[in-house]
Amino acid sequence: MVPLVALVCCLLSACCGRPSLALPLEPSGWGRPPAVGQFWHVTDLHLDPTYHITDDHTKVCSSSKGANASNPGPFGDVLCDSPYQLILSAFDFIKNSGQKASFMIWTGDSPPHVPVTELSTEIVINVLTNLTTTIQSLFPNLQVFPALGNHDYWPEDQLPVDTNDVYNAVANLWKPWLAEEALRTLRAGGFYSQKVAAIPNLRIISLNTILYYSPNIMTLDKTDPANQFEWLESTLNSSQQNKEQVYIIAHVPVGYLPQVKNTTAIREAYNEKLINIFRKYSDVIAGQFYGHTHRDSIMVLSDTQGSPVNSLFVAPAVTPVKNVKEKQTNNPGVRLYQYDPYNYKLLDMLQYYLNLTEANLQGKSNWKLEYILTQSYGIKDLQPESLYGLAKQLAILDSKQFIKYYNYYFVSYDSSVICDDTCKAFQICAIMNLDYTSYVNCLKQYYISQNH
Ligand SMILES: [Zn+2]
Ligand SMILES: [Zn+2]
Repeated sequence: MVPLVALVCCLLSACCGRPSLALPLEPSGWGRPPAVGQFWHVTDLHLDPTYHITDDHTKVCSSSKGANASNPGPFGDVLCDSPYQLILSAFDFIKNSGQKASFMIWTGDSPPHVPVTELSTEIVINVLTNLTTTIQSLFPNLQVFPALGNHDYWPEDQLPVDTNDVYNAVANLWKPWLAEEALRTLRAGGFYSQKVAAIPNLRIISLNTILYYSPNIMTLDKTDPANQFEWLESTLNSSQQNKEQVYIIAHVPVGYLPQVKNTTAIREAYNEKLINIFRKYSDVIAGQFYGHTHRDSIMVLSDTQGSPVNSLFVAPAVTPVKNVKEKQTNNPGVRLYQYDPYNYKLLDMLQYYLNLTEANLQGKSNWKLEYILTQSYGIKDLQPESLYGLAKQLAILDSKQFIKYYNYYFVSYDSSVICDDTCKAFQICAIMNLDYTSYVNCLKQYYISQNH
């Protein structure tokens, strides 16, 4: 197989050169803002530069780790990370969708899932460079807000608490999108906050939640890795003073994983800390957006009295990759959010996807709308109260809405997929409870109500 490093370099030189670094960031028009504002969310691109069609299915991609690719085609295979063509088809779709967006969020994980010995700091930086320049050349006038993922480092998951080659490299790559102060904290700790240029009073806070990620041994025994908690509180505090609204973006989500019992994605103590900060500043935080699980899910943060105060969204991956032992995976997805341009409250979400089997069969990528959140579930908007109402509907025994939700969870990969009572209890409790006490109470209560 061609070594990864050679292929990354090929892709880099094939791609379009460095775009103009100036950021015109056109306002959406003079005078009144449009009736709705929109922004894109892409995540978990996981480029596998070794992907190629060949008769020996064990050699289609490094990311299948020697397993036979199941049905490889030009847009990928479920046992492989994304071929460049799949990623390009996603961005081409976004570019030609006719949707006007004021910015894009990109929540990390660019390199492939391959054994640690097949990657290096240099390869990770090459992949990040390739995808950044791809985005910058396709969208020269769009401000993009990236967040670092656990794969955006070598060795994976071990993102450090101080400056290093990767933080420095991305700070240079992301200069067209970010101001000096944001680049300074990005270099120092892999996180930043940045005002959206095209929109007054809206700030993006991009957290490095990999510092809190369970497998990260660089932060063991640290109460505030890279002083990110302190920085987050003071950033939210000044946003509050300045009457700004904030969207939180990060790769690894807070809260509990929806598919396993009693497991937070980040270490439990860090989770409790983050939840407390998000509760304290819930009036400033207009939405939270994550990736990492590769699945489509929602969460509703409630205050200590049980009232919903924040809406959180986990977007599905572009990569369709799964482990050879897993039955389910996700179709590739990208999404568009709609917000009120006067107060930045979230109004709706449009999930788009590529039916991978169909695309490979037809030899062309036909990205389609999968669902519109409010229409699909009959809710009014994406405000915490509305999502909380939806979560209560999902929790009802034999809820039809939940069957839909669970199909969308895998981006319509397998509509016959079934979630039994235990599976559903984990899903529902993870949607509605982000802290330890309420999560554990939910599991208890849910089991009891299911048994009666
Ligand atoms: Zn990922
Ligand atoms: Zn990840």
